[in-house]
Amino acid sequence: MAELSLTNIVKRFGGFEIIHGANLEVKDGEFVVFVGPSGCGKSTLLRMIAGLEDITSGELRIGGKVVNDVEPADRGIAMVFQSYALYPHLTVEENLSFGLRMNGNPKADTERRVSHVADILQITELMKRRPKQLSGGQRQRVAIGRAIVREPEVFLFDEPLSNLDAELRVQMRVEISRLHKQLGTTMIYVTHDQTEAMTLADRIVVLRAGNIEQIGAPLDLYDDPANQFVAGFVGSPKMNFLTAVVVEAQPGRAVIALESNPETRLPVPIAEPVEAGTKVTLGIRPEHFADAGAGDADLTVAIDVAEHLGNTSYIYAAIGSEQLIIERPESRTAGNRETLTVGLPARHTFLFDGAGKRLR
Ligand code: ATP
Repeated sequence: MAELSLTNIVKRFGGFEIIHGANLEVKDGEFVVFVGPSGCGKSTLLRMIAGLEDITSGELRIGGKVVNDVEPADRGIAMVFQSYALYPHLTVEENLSFGLRMNGNPKADTERRVSHVADILQITELMKRRPKQLSGGQRQRVAIGRAIVREPEVFLFDEPLSNLDAELRVQMRVEISRLHKQLGTTMIYVTHDQTEAMTLADRIVVLRAGNIEQIGAPLDLYDDPANQFVAGFVGSPKMNFLTAVVVEAQPGRAVIALESNPETRLPVPIAEPVEAGTKVTLGIRPEHFADAGAGDADLTVAIDVAEHLGNTSYIYAAIGSEQLIIERPESRTAGNRETLTVGLPARHTFLFDGAGKRLR
């Protein structure tokens, strides 16, 4: 097992800087997830840790040792990719033992490790099959098994579940979580599925255009996002953002009016001073609307589509030109209403300035 540390890591491809100086300390045994929109540099960062990409500048340490120039095979890491690339002509057992046999690992030890891994992943009954006789989930389990038999100090996962269907993804997600508990190995996992990030991570690293925007425990990011980008990225469905203007400002407190519905005036506590007349963005998560009358202001929206899921409803609605999603407890008498009035609880709202910086 090992801790991992990135100091001012920069990556340039040709003239383009893709990673702009990443700093991160991963503790021994920690499960860290990299998330961010497509192209933000998640895979590049992971591949630099794996040694599959050169580090332009900065320092990478694994277990305290600088490994910038250490070969991938000598870094004590194992990587699982989204395309599981098993050898088609080998059985599951042979696929699992292949790397160890190539390295000249003693036969008895190889057998012990392979059978232990088969036990952990519950694939013992599949050992004599070849990859094409396996389901997608079983193949991915074998791919993970191939990483485990190497007994690495650090596991790297690059979107390992993105080729699986929805049900299998959930199942494998739970298995990876269990595996982490069982092995206690340091794991770094790249995904753009934010449910995976929320459920698997001890800490999430949110990346945007080659910069780390925030690092924190999943619920800390949910409750206390550093800025509008993180607020919009963590949580599903996404946080709603409504344009508003400050109509009254006092130290520690402001009253804002929604641009699309100026009668809606919401008093909010603020952490940063603002001036009356400032344009701001009000953030509220779909699950945080209250019943009409139960918040600090009421808001009436035009219902576009209502999805009734049995336990909860998602109301896709509009207010002026702005769209929003409202999650409400299932109401079986909802019928075909055209408008909905909900309460806005100030304590569940966020406020951002024009640059996405948090004002509260
Ligand atoms: P995705 O979620 O789509 O996989 P990502 O966050 O993993 O995206 P990367 O694959 O790390 O993003 O890519 C980051 C940026 O680096 C992108 O703009 C990409 O085009 C660029 N890039 C990646 N590999 C190379 C390369 N070999 N040469 C030049 N540019 C590259």
